[in-house]
Amino acid sequence: PTGGGAVLRQALQAVSTSPRAQALVERAPLTRDVVHRFIAGETMDEALDVTEGIVGSGRLVSLDVLGEDVRDAEQAGRTVAYYEALLARLAEAKLADRAEVSLKLTAVGQALDPDTALENARRVCAAARAAGTSVTIDMEDHTTVESTLDSVRELRRDFPDTGLVVQAYLRRAEEFSAEMAYAGSRVRLCKGAYGAPESVAFTRRDDVDKSYVRCLKALMAGQGYPMVATHDPRLIDIAGALAVLNERGTDTFEYQMLYGIRPQEQKRIAETGARMRVYVAYGTEWYGYFLRRLAERPANLAFFVRSVVTR
Ligand code: FAD
Repeated sequence: PTGGGAVLRQALQAVSTSPRAQALVERAPLTRDVVHRFIAGETMDEALDVTEGIVGSGRLVSLDVLGEDVRDAEQAGRTVAYYEALLARLAEAKLADRAEVSLKLTAVGQALDPDTALENARRVCAAARAAGTSVTIDMEDHTTVESTLDSVRELRRDFPDTGLVVQAYLRRAEEFSAEMAYAGSRVRLCKGAYGAPESVAFTRRDDVDKSYVRCLKALMAGQGYPMVATHDPRLIDIAGALAVLNERGTDTFEYQMLYGIRPQEQKRIAETGARMRVYVAYGTEWYGYFLRRLAERPANLAFFVRSVVTR
């Protein structure tokens, strides 16, 4: 809530798109150790090992192959092939009933052409269906929100179980939540990680939290399947209370947290009988994801700087 925290957050969000800063951070000597706190590894094998461990402890998983902002069609095609291979492995390992995948449309060509990205996403959804699981489409920078929502509406015609994300920091979040609270609609509610101008988003933490609660109320009162993605203990309690108030069974919504963040709390919630899904990101393109995690929490930045300075 401090002014300093907000400045730091904005600086990190700016750095996350600077190629020069990327080169510096990637070469920092102990970057790797710190990065591995938040990502499950660089290979599919490592990610599947982590997934098995999480599933073994009673939690669910959503796997994300790191990569975003793809600028050429070939790379977008490679991302699709990678997801197809991952989904086949999930089925083979009999993990598909406990693990889904998360997909960023910018990783499959949204910046090149939304239609191509939609076709690519369709291929990933088809592979997920063949494996016996589903896809959630991540929400990215505020400039992509409309296009992403249109794509999800389109994908849901053929793949109604496709999940979407509402970012509570958006001024239109409550409207999106109400629209998307229909039967069968899987909606992940998060605060929003990209930073957005005052004109489209709430920028004070307090206002974001209040918006989160309004969205939660709409989603929990609706007919859909809310996915409560936050590490914030207050919001988790409110979600639990709203679930009771709306007489929801534990299989009609879930909690979600990121790999590496509050793992003990993840296990505790799973042990209460609630569904808890862990978002597991892996791959070599970890830079943007990592910087967003640092921006969320100055303590993580201190942890990172300390590890570089005291090597
Ligand atoms: P915060 O106010 O950031 O944190 C609340 C408390 O949680 C903190 O006080 C601390 O105790 C703990 N905590 C939070 N973050 C950390 C951390 N990094 N390290 C250690 N402790 C921490 N954002 C998008 O924009 N699009 C998406 O598609 C998207 N998908 C997501 C999927 C999942 C499953 C999750 C959990 C988050 C996703 N996010 C996404 C990120 C989200 O928008 C937030 O940036 C992120 O979750 C941090 O906000 P918070 O709700 O945890 O609250």
